[in-house]
Amino acid sequence: VIVYANGQWVNENDAVIPVDERGHQFGDGVYEVTRIYEGKPFMMREHVERLVKSAEAIRMDLGMTVEEIESLMMEAVERSGEKNCDVYIQITRGIAKRGHLFPKDVKPSITMTVRPMEVIAMEERLAGKTAIFHEDERWKNCYIKSLNLLPNILAKQVANDAGAYEAILIRDGYVTEGTSSNIFIVQNGELVTRPLSNYILAGITRMRVEQLAEQLNIPFVEREFTKEDVLEAEEVFMTSTTNEVLPLVEIDGTTIGSGVAGPVTERVAKQFLQTV
Ligand code: PMP
Repeated sequence: VIVYANGQWVNENDAVIPVDERGHQFGDGVYEVTRIYEGKPFMMREHVERLVKSAEAIRMDLGMTVEEIESLMMEAVERSGEKNCDVYIQITRGIAKRGHLFPKDVKPSITMTVRPMEVIAMEERLAGKTAIFHEDERWKNCYIKSLNLLPNILAKQVANDAGAYEAILIRDGYVTEGTSSNIFIVQNGELVTRPLSNYILAGITRMRVEQLAEQLNIPFVEREFTKEDVLEAEEVFMTSTTNEVLPLVEIDGTTIGSGVAGPVTERVAKQFLQTV
């Protein structure tokens, strides 16, 4: 693992973050996870643009251009020597004596890690994973990829405790997204996902799946859907940078479709992996 902290390349467990760092104290920052396949960044521009958008949303000036952020991430990848890896970048409002108000004249604090990616074998992927439903207890600005992940962590742990892989979040009776993924269902042959809004993260994998659906001539529709729609769906899958396209075959104890990845999911998952 390669670790970067504010201009230095350090060891994983070095104490490089001062106690008054705002990410550490308040979760006052934003982050991205970007994947590198065979040495090539996957949709890195989109990730960095989302990072900039997240920073703007919390009124934080990154003090770096998109190109500078990209080249810093690629430097980390090169130093790691990894060909297939995940780059985590976190930018917080900086280091200043603890207080809620934005500190004046501070520079953002930037940390990064590069770790080898965990590959999910195709056989395991197509066997599918399980999920549960959970109330979406988050705030109203889930389009911001902020460090405040407590509701996500708690919901994912509830899923894990129930032997499930992901928790599908429900707000006002409708599915928003997963704790760390976007959710798709196949309904009457159409690929359905919730429209973008403040209530979900605009997933980069989601964006790619939309493009793939067009290439594969699969009708793609954005509309809200309920728990019941999920349970009655022909297929369900989740998407994220680290899980890619991952079928969900049992939800809250109900088997979805035939209990393994359905044909649409399989096509999308395979096309995704072929085009990364
Ligand atoms: N929603 C949430 C809440 C997430 O944390 C993630 C993972 N970053 C996603 C959706 C999927 O986004 P992406 O495809 O860009 O990884």
